[in-house]
Amino acid sequence: DAAITIDGVSKQYEGEGGTTTALREISLSVSSGEFVTVLGPSGCGKTTLLRLVSGLESPTDGDITVAGKLVQVPDPNRGTVFQAYHLFPWLTVRENVAFGLVEQGVPDAERQDRVQEMLEVIGLSNFADAYPKELSGGMKQRVGLARALAVDPDILLMDEPFGSVDMQTRRQLQHELIHIWRDTDKTVLFVTHDIEEAVALSDRIVVMSGTPGCVQATVSVAESRP
Ligand code: ADP
Ligand code: ADP
Repeated sequence: DAAITIDGVSKQYEGEGGTTTALREISLSVSSGEFVTVLGPSGCGKTTLLRLVSGLESPTDGDITVAGKLVQVPDPNRGTVFQAYHLFPWLTVRENVAFGLVEQGVPDAERQDRVQEMLEVIGLSNFADAYPKELSGGMKQRVGLARALAVDPDILLMDEPFGSVDMQTRRQLQHELIHIWRDTDKTVLFVTHDIEEAVALSDRIVVMSGTPGCVQATVSVAESRP
């Protein structure tokens, strides 16, 4: 069964200099529990695609459904991890991770348990009361991931989440993500311009062309993964 369906989606931006086509007739279906990576050069529309699936923006043409429902507004059941950490600098690690749970109105005691569990999953229990500026890039990425996972989303949308860290940390985070994904059975739509990362992580890679982006190929990689 399809967790995400993207059907003939195009996106144009109107600006001072005229119209920019960011996506052209993208169609793509992601099965429940599948890890799909969208791979393509900078500017091909990957970020735009994730923003549309997350409901932050609307397509100019075509339809996107998540769990059978038309995407129209942002929904906390889709956990989103962005490229730049987007942590709240005035909140501690604990408060950042708790953010979505507060929004959802999860009761205090349950929320604290859930946050503690997430901090253990990402290995940052000792940094619960630290502020983002006291953390390394890799640690900030982990907090971003924990914040997205805290609400137990069915679908995880990730926009170059490891883009801002060094290669060794990147490998480590990829490894951790695969473990989390295997343990939780989530559907993941992951965006990157790094082919090695795409191969290391995915069941399937969807390759997008240059500007304006459309799907060029889709490649299964699950068999080749260790
Ligand atoms: P990436 O690093 O994935 O190429 P960018 O840094 O180019 O992404 O863009 C990040 C966000 O900034 C996009 O999701 C989009 O909303 C916005 N953005 C990108 N290009 C433009 C533009 N030409 N005009 C206005 N906003 C833009
Ligand atoms: P990618 O994530 O693959 O780098 P983006 O989705 O950020 O690509 O951008 C795709 C194209 O759409 C680029 O040409 C970018 O400049 C343009 N774009 C993205 N967001 C906006 C925006 N808000 N306004 C105008 N143009 C945008």
